[in-house]
Order: sequence, then C-alpha cells, then structure tokens
Amino acid sequence: MAGGIVGAGLEALGAEAKRDKIPIVTLGRTGLKVSRIALGTTQAPDRNILAYCISQGLNFIDTAPNYAHFQAEAILGRRFRELNLKRESLVIASKNKSRDPSSWPRLVRESCKRLGIEYLDIFYAHSLGGIGKHVPDSPTWPLRPEVERGVRELKRSGLIRFFGYTSHAGDKDFVNALIRNAAKADYIDVMMVRYNFRDYGDERLAESLAIAHKAGQGVIAMKTQSGAKATPEKVKPFLGDGFNHWQAAIRWAASNPNVHVVCANMRNLEMAKQNIEAIKRPRLSASELDRLMIYAQATSAEACRMCASCAKACPEGIALPEILRAVMYCEDYGDPDMARQIYAEIEPPFRPDRCRNCGACEAACPNGLAIREKVAFAANSLSWET
Ligand code: SF4
Ligand code: SF4
Repeated sequence: MAGGIVGAGLEALGAEAKRDKIPIVTLGRTGLKVSRIALGTTQAPDRNILAYCISQGLNFIDTAPNYAHFQAEAILGRRFRELNLKRESLVIASKNKSRDPSSWPRLVRESCKRLGIEYLDIFYAHSLGGIGKHVPDSPTWPLRPEVERGVRELKRSGLIRFFGYTSHAGDKDFVNALIRNAAKADYIDVMMVRYNFRDYGDERLAESLAIAHKAGQGVIAMKTQSGAKATPEKVKPFLGDGFNHWQAAIRWAASNPNVHVVCANMRNLEMAKQNIEAIKRPRLSASELDRLMIYAQATSAEACRMCASCAKACPEGIALPEILRAVMYCEDYGDPDMARQIYAEIEPPFRPDRCRNCGACEAACPNGLAIREKVAFAANSLSWET
C-alpha cells in the first residue's frame, strides 16, 4: 500500500458498522449499500452457507455463468427462492468474458434468467488481461467507443444498473495501466482486481487503487488468499495466539481504505464464519502483519502471481499462467473439477503437451515456482480425456 497502511479504513469508507454485523459501505458512485465482504461463487453456493452469510448482514453476491461447472447462477436462483430472499435486499453481480458489446444484452438476459431476476446490479467485463486467452487484452480496451456505447445502451435497457471490469492478471504494467485508463471512464462504475498480501509494498498498485477510488469507482479486491498451498509444516509457525493466516489475508486487503469490498469464496460453514469474523475486524496489529509477511515469504515459491513472465519466455507458447491457475484450483483449493474446467477452456495449441522441458519458464519466473512439475501434472491429470 502503501505498504504501511494497516488501519481498518472503515471510517474513511464511511462504513456503517452495527454490532456483530458485517459493516456496510457505499460502493463508490453507484451509491449501492453493500456488505464489506461479497460471497464468491466459483463453487456452488450451499444453502446453509448462504443463509448464514445473509443472517450476518452479507448482501453482495458475486457470480458468473462459468462458475461451479456452469451451474452457479442456476443454483443461486434456486437458493434465492428457497430462502425467500427479496430481490431488493441483494446486490447481485455477474460477468462475462465476451469482449463484443453487441453480445452483452443477450448474455445478461441469459444470466438473469438463470438467476431468476430481472436485472443485474453490476455486470462485469470479465478477466481483462489475457488470463485464459492467448491474445492478451489491451489496457485501453475499456476506453474504446464501442465499449462506451455498449455500456450506455445496456444501462439504458434496464438490464444492468452498473458496469465494471475484473482482472486476474498479475502483469503489473498491464494492471496499473488498465486501472488508470478505466478510472477515466464515467460509464465504468466498479472494478474488481486481484489484490493480496503479496502486494505489500507495491506503491504503484496501491496508488492505482487510490486513483480508481478517487474517481468514484467501487473498488473490490479478489484473490486475497493468493492461492498459496498452506501445508501444515509451513503454516504451523504462524498459528496459535489467535493468529489465522486465512483471516489475516482478508484483513490485510480490507485494511486498505481504498478497498470497499473483499470478495471471498466460502467453501464451508467454518470458512464462512472465519471470513465474516475477519471482515468485522480488519485492523491488523504490527505483530500480525509481521507474521503475515513471514508466511508470505515462506510460501512465496508456491504461489503463482499470474505475472506471465514464464509465458513470455516459453518457446512453445504454452498458456502457463492459466495452466498454473488450473493446478492451483486442484492442489490448493481441492477442486479438481474446476481445475479441469479451466484447463478445458485453454485452446489445444496452448496446452502443455508440447512442453519440451527446456526450463526457460523457470528461469524467467521471479518467484522460483517449480513450473515444469506443474505443467507435467496438468498434462497428466487435468484433461477430461485422461
Ligand atoms: S519447460 Fe516447457 S513450459 Fe517451460 S518454457 Fe520450456 S517448453 Fe515452455
Ligand atoms: S509461474 Fe512465475 S512467472 Fe509464471 S505467471 Fe506464475 S509467478 Fe509469473
């Protein structure tokens, strides 16, 4: 962060904190009153977890057509009906990877139909930055006239209230340029980017978030856990004394006063309780921050930052960041189906079959990841055909 900012930042965000409830913030110029934590749905939203989250004051739901093996929106729609939730009580965001604005009305209608609702509160152009695509997006894409026209028409149609973008990319030049360009567009209301404790000390990214915040955009942090494999031996030294590295990661992201909301998956009830507890008390003490940084260092070579340096070095053009993301879902999140789904979306010429074990990717990785091992694992284990 302003690497040094560890304060809660709730006051700066104008948060309304009710005792034992999740704080509510105003999501930038959208004026939407949202819970500081959004429920991510890359895994199918369990009824009890959703009910628990709602009981704690969570009202912000984040989904996408391809989440939970293409079932997330339909399952969510069912849960809304089962729990008898009123449409106005929820802020619902969905997204699509289509870069063709003329396709958006149809895609939004399809999402709404699956969700059983009439409109989306937020529609995102999803995953800007090339993760999952071999030809990367341009960081000036949000400023294209056809994008502006498409967004304005979508809003006029009443199918969406607000428009935003997401980016998983860890290529810092791309991300910073994207955020700063999009902040100039008055039709872009919300942004959601990967932001986590491994970005500690990254002043340029912190400044980009501040620019978006100052421009009036809602700023949402995702991937706050950074997908590190938390092997018991590595985590052990940091546990105890009430310190929990999962919670600390959420609290770190939320402690930036320019971050309105943290989006998090809740894989089970225990995780939901921990995440919600963390967002209620985002302030990290200096000693907790120290421990989080030691944990970051200890797990550094296990966590891909999606920076794409390896992909640029690969003579075979293998889609390495996306393959590493698929492996992360399998190894770190215990979700082999999601891993296979991500893998299946990679076009055949960019899959790992053509790896010739040259090692150029590992030489280029600034974080020392054992990329070849992961590539071999993906080739052997993530194809549906195996
Ligand atoms: S080892 Fe394989 S994945 Fe890595 S750079 Fe060489 S060909 Fe590409
Ligand atoms: S493996 Fe290394 S170089 Fe490749 S995207 Fe991940 S962090 Fe970057």
